[in-house]
Formats: sequence, C-alpha cells, structure tokens
Amino acid sequence: MKKIGLIGGMSWESTQEYYRIINEEVRNRLGGLHSAKIVMDSVDFAEIEKLQHEGKWSQLGDMLAESAQNLERAGADCVLICTNTMHKCADQVAASVQIPLIHLAEATGELVKQQGLERIGLLGTKFTMEQDFYKGRLTEKFGLDVIVPNDEDREVIHHVIYDELCLGNVQGASKVKYLEIIRKMIDDGAEGIILGCTEIPLLVSQEDVSVPVFDTTYIHAVSAVDFALK
Ligand code: GLU
Repeated sequence: MKKIGLIGGMSWESTQEYYRIINEEVRNRLGGLHSAKIVMDSVDFAEIEKLQHEGKWSQLGDMLAESAQNLERAGADCVLICTNTMHKCADQVAASVQIPLIHLAEATGELVKQQGLERIGLLGTKFTMEQDFYKGRLTEKFGLDVIVPNDEDREVIHHVIYDELCLGNVQGASKVKYLEIIRKMIDDGAEGIILGCTEIPLLVSQEDVSVPVFDTTYIHAVSAVDFALK
C-alpha cells in the first residue's frame, strides 16, 4: 500500500472527513483491521484565509509547496491539497515535488464526464466560483458547461463556508438557503451539482437534491485510495 500525503487544515472540519473516508474506504476494500497509510501536514487556516482575501496567492503557493515538500520528505507517495479553493496553487505545488499531486477538479471532472452530464452547477467559495483555475479546468479538460449562482447567491454561499461551516457550525437555515440556490441552478439547466468546497458536504447531501450531486471531499479521498491500492 502506498502512503497518502494530505495537506490539511483548510479547514480541519473537512480534513477530518478526508481522514475518515480514506480509512473507511481502505477497510471496505481490504477488510479486517486494514487502515490507510497517511501522513499529513496541517496548516493554520487563519493565516491562509487572511492571505486568500488579500489576494496573496503566490505566498500561499509557497506555503503549500513547503507543506508538499514536508510530506515528500516524510515518505508520502502522493500529495492531496484538501480544499478546492487552494487548487488555485495546484500547479505550483505539483512542480515543487517529485511525487504526483492528485488534482481534485480533475478527479471530479472525470466522474461528471463518466456519468454523461454536460451542464453542471458549481458551488464553492467565491474564488472557486468566480475564477478560472477550477471552472477552466472543468471546461477545457472535460468539455463541461459550468454554471454558477448569481452575485447575491455567490455571496451567501461564500459566507456560509467561512463564517459557519469552517467553524463547525452547521445551520438548518443555511441549508434551506443552499437548497434554494441549487433549485435555481437546476431550473437553469444544471444536470448535476458539484459541491466544490470540501465543507459543503457537511451541509448538503445527495438525499437533499433531485439531480446527481458530486461531493468533492468524497471523490478526492476515494481517488487517493485508488492510487494507494493500485
Ligand atoms: N475547504 C474549502 C474549499 O474546498 C474552503 C476553504 C479554503 O478556502 O480553502 O474550497
């Protein structure tokens, strides 16, 4: 079994989900007392969030590259950035190590494509919904038609992520707002919804939504297990 390297802490509320899902998946596949070989480098999210909102992406890239190098030195065979947003720095991080980076948007895009969907709704932080590093990859590499909520709704989605979910605060009222925004995207032709922030699955799941939902935390964690057991 290969060793999985996680850059975690963004936020730790979702990183603990990665840890659980990866271990459950290894147990399901190998049985008995089997569990995953994992090494993690976990950052202080307050520092990250501040730099994100100041637009200091190259400094953030340097920080995550250092984390990736720590993982490589600790014997990791691959590296995962356990957040959609910080995939803005994915190319810089991948170039800083010899081990492969398992890219979250690519794992997700592949699955959406496999299911034959073309028009897909994307929820995430404003960085993820508005900039090209994520949407662009889904469009260019997988030919997907990606739609995002309107300005006002993007604001709601973003604030619930940073002010509630990343603090472990899961509110019924916010779930209602999210489901309403998802409904509008479905009315707008979305054939599926990407939960493109690793905390959103704490709030919304497949049972809540009438079209296929792509839980990026789960998809990313399972692709790490595929790699580790290949
Ligand atoms: N975990 C979130 C994501 O997947 C947001 C936190 C962050 O900004 O990294 O985008």
